[in-house]
Amino acid sequence: MKYKLILYPDTFLWVKNNKGLLYNAKFFTILDFTLNPNIRHICEHLLNYDNLYCILIDNTTIDNPCKEFVQQIVKNKLGEIFNENASVISLPPLLNIQFDIDKLLKDDNRDIGENILSYLHTINIYSGGQCSDKQYFKQIIYPVNSLHQNRLLPEQIHTFLKTNMTPYIRKINITVSDIENYDIESVLELLTEYKNSVIFHILCPTINVEYTVILKIIASGYKVNLICELSPNQEENDSLMQWICSEEMKHNNISNHFIIKNEEEYKFWLDFINEHKIKNYQFSLIYDGNDEFFHANIFLTKADIEDCQLSRREVFAHMTVNTLLFGSLSIMPNGEIFTNINSKSIGNVDDSIYDIIIRELEQNHGWRKIRNSIRCDNCLYQWLCPSPSYYEHAMSVDTVCTNILFPSN
Ligand code: SF4
Repeated sequence: MKYKLILYPDTFLWVKNNKGLLYNAKFFTILDFTLNPNIRHICEHLLNYDNLYCILIDNTTIDNPCKEFVQQIVKNKLGEIFNENASVISLPPLLNIQFDIDKLLKDDNRDIGENILSYLHTINIYSGGQCSDKQYFKQIIYPVNSLHQNRLLPEQIHTFLKTNMTPYIRKINITVSDIENYDIESVLELLTEYKNSVIFHILCPTINVEYTVILKIIASGYKVNLICELSPNQEENDSLMQWICSEEMKHNNISNHFIIKNEEEYKFWLDFINEHKIKNYQFSLIYDGNDEFFHANIFLTKADIEDCQLSRREVFAHMTVNTLLFGSLSIMPNGEIFTNINSKSIGNVDDSIYDIIIRELEQNHGWRKIRNSIRCDNCLYQWLCPSPSYYEHAMSVDTVCTNILFPSN
């Protein structure tokens, strides 16, 4: 008996060495399998674009593992079988390369600058000033400790935004290192027109932070994110708790980022959130030599990745850009600009955004850093796995996964 097998247009098929993976980006079903000669033949045929994701199979000539493979495809809604005479085709999910920077760079007839301003959606501004020197800004939004002369003045921030603001920039994160000594009133006044996009990030507890400063920011119509970190000093923690759960701090325009470095901190904040019904919050994980915690709780397992539920568009995004870094840049207290905080500076506040974006597209410090290390290149989950993050850099590792079955295993 002969029949036609097609894979659905939303089904991705990847083969690496003797293993294969099918993933459907509509039903979020997934199937990993081992190749034998019959299965390899089917996969190679399907991967040839000219065959339009369809193959005629003679059931009398394939082995049992291959029959089981076809059954699993149908059962997991990855594809379908049809009568051998049915005229069916399907289009494999292929990246529609409308914008491929490497091609553009080689094509003299096209301008690399086409629409590039639309790529930039987030600007992270670090005002600088004196604070604890923890370097956590290399992993999450966190104040940068800088000398007095290395500080972005309100006028500099304003001039930069005035010159470079586009309708595509949706978020402007301003992290203030020492709010007591910063001219916050001038910033509030100068940035009025960008108010809807601005979020101030402030570390708590900072020494004697006055409620009034936060309340003034909120009253001016801006949003505030409180970065909440437990201290070894219980007294400080007590006053931080009191602070966070006061009625004023439960304002809709205030959010909390709770810093987590170990399980105890996680449990502590979770209980706190439940007890005080904190609504607007997020956890921010920090690598601080806490390998055990990261390995046990943060590293991705096969199950985590299989549960990713990525759309076609998201899978394609993983293939082309770093989805964590693409479209954002950071301005440091000395005015230098980074598209990847752990890479080289690609300009400063006196440059135009247009030039900065072009430089990033040409030099690729972060926006197009994808999962293409040797290990990831050999992994079936390469494009389902999240883009490389700052955590890998902090930990000096290539990957943040565990228990993944590699094709070479
Ligand atoms: S090897 Fe790379 S692609 Fe594979 S799961 Fe680990 S990090 Fe992700």
